[in-house]
Amino acid sequence: MTNSPDSADFIPWYFRSLDFEQLWRDYPPPPTYFQTTARLSRDELRALQEKRFLATVARGWEIEFFKRHWSEHGLEPGDICGLDDLAKIPVYDVGHIRKSIERNPPFGDFMGISPADGKRMPLVLQTSGGTTGLPRPMLYAPQDRETMAILGGRRLAMHGVRPGDMVLVTLSLGLGNGGMAPREAMWRYSGAVPVMTGSGANTPTRRQIEIVKAWGISVLLGFPAYLRHMALVARDEFGIDPRSLGIRLVGTHLGMENREQLEDLWGARAFDMYGTHESGMLAAECTQQTGMHAMEDAFILEVANPETGQPMPDGEKGTLYITTLYKYGAPQIRFNVNDISAWHTDACPCGNTMRRLKRIFGRNDNMVKLRGVNVFPEAVGAAVVEDRRTNGEYFCFVDRVGEAGTDRMDVWVEVTDAAADREHVRTDLERRMKEVLGVKVQVTPVAKGELDEFTMTSQSSKVKRLLDRRK
Ligand SMILES: [Zn+2]
Repeated sequence: MTNSPDSADFIPWYFRSLDFEQLWRDYPPPPTYFQTTARLSRDELRALQEKRFLATVARGWEIEFFKRHWSEHGLEPGDICGLDDLAKIPVYDVGHIRKSIERNPPFGDFMGISPADGKRMPLVLQTSGGTTGLPRPMLYAPQDRETMAILGGRRLAMHGVRPGDMVLVTLSLGLGNGGMAPREAMWRYSGAVPVMTGSGANTPTRRQIEIVKAWGISVLLGFPAYLRHMALVARDEFGIDPRSLGIRLVGTHLGMENREQLEDLWGARAFDMYGTHESGMLAAECTQQTGMHAMEDAFILEVANPETGQPMPDGEKGTLYITTLYKYGAPQIRFNVNDISAWHTDACPCGNTMRRLKRIFGRNDNMVKLRGVNVFPEAVGAAVVEDRRTNGEYFCFVDRVGEAGTDRMDVWVEVTDAAADREHVRTDLERRMKEVLGVKVQVTPVAKGELDEFTMTSQSSKVKRLLDRRK
């Protein structure tokens, strides 16, 4: 690193904060990425991961949170000699992070940097999307933020975003990384032009559609629920077929949402990706649409049995553990992110050797136990969106009812097909959900727009799907 931030006379200007040429060799942006890192053999990749992993563990020993957590589990410096020892490192999750913040307010001791480090390097703060109270803060050092931008640039290039594309970013602008991270990735590393409309609360949906038309937008980024909402506003309120608006591709976090329906609405291909505010861009789909290539030079991803923590056999579903290999400020080392996925086991025809994650099947955090059965709201959504009489909007209420205290889930669903018989919609969906979920739920068809006060689809990119009233 030239102009080392550790030297006393360092000035915290971003362009002096890193050896950018070296960073680009270490984490090649597109298009170089496709000829270099994406072509590594598995052995070459393993060697690269090994080196970065050991550096990350050494960094962990400098951070109070890891020192304490690891020592409590009997780990000593020197115990971890390579990736073969990965499983010796105790896992942690968001509960540990919350406790770290409570113990050392306001930023916790899980970060190796604090605002005072701004004197020797430029820092930026973004947060998790908090629902109650203050959201969880995260500070990013220059190395962290710039590498995140590179990984985000790779994602866009993998989807097929090209220099000169006009990209509408319908993700939240504010404390969360939602729209901020894609903007940095796009203008630095893709050549495409970010058009930051933000969510429906930042720019009304009708205005967003006018912008798509007037400025020649060819790519949309956003969550499926909002992009669906936007297409339906274009169709039903403007009388414009969204397919005529010239959108070529859609970048989104599909999760359990229906890709075909979104592609159908916009007449564009939709690509899945997976990222978190702490980690950045973890994985993204290439133009083959056969799963998300993990950024394996920047992360170790493990798929583990949520009960035992043991690795799942390749191809089987489990909860994801994340180890960052590129982060300096706040590395994550075996962080249980509580999202569920699995590895594809075949090679991708695109030639990229990075392994592919299957879609994110759900968040363990969202899971509710209903009469002994694990239910994910995402699975409810997948069943709703299959039914073309609905617009895919749904909301789940969970209650404890009667003297016996039986668990009950009510799923409200917006029906947009005016000709549809609501009683038929109800019985069809109840039957389908019994098949999919393995437990009976009650379905209530409602009119278009009635759920917005619960889901916030038109206003927020963080859509809500569940209210558990049993607590
Ligand atoms: Zn591929």
